Amino acid sequence: MPIDATQPYDPENIFAKILRGEIPNETVYEDDAVLAFKDINPQAPIHVLVIPKGEYVSWDDFSTNASDAEVGHFVRTVGKIARDLDLVEPGYRLLANIGGNGHQEVPHLHVHLFGGRPLGPMLARG
Ligand code: AMP
Repeated sequence: MPIDATQPYDPENIFAKILRGEIPNETVYEDDAVLAFKDINPQAPIHVLVIPKGEYVSWDDFSTNASDAEVGHFVRTVGKIARDLDLVEPGYRLLANIGGNGHQEVPHLHVHLFGGRPLGPMLARG
């Protein structure tokens, strides 16, 4: 079920549990402020989720309430992870789902990073 992007942060969400080490993950990258791990249900040969370690429900929450330093570091780190995965020359896709119409299911901001094959048109029809 999609979430309401304006809901308060739920510390029991699955990515909060991953950040606390309560649930395993296949880490691709980690620093003090960012974790990137493989999506459990990959939609492309490379499907990585990049999340800030801070408690932000959605892109809306993050872009409103995170500091310029947090936002800057997060954006630069998403780019670095894609470069480290050699995705720049073949190309890749970033996606953030926000709230109901965006079909966001996990209420902790995450950016999907897809690559490894031609990804086709931007959105499925219907
Ligand atoms: P979204 O619809 O943007 O909220 O996407 C949530 C994503 O989280 C989906 O692509 C799921 O496959 C993924 N996901 C859910 N649980 C886990 C988990 N434990 N480890 C890795 N990815 C997960």
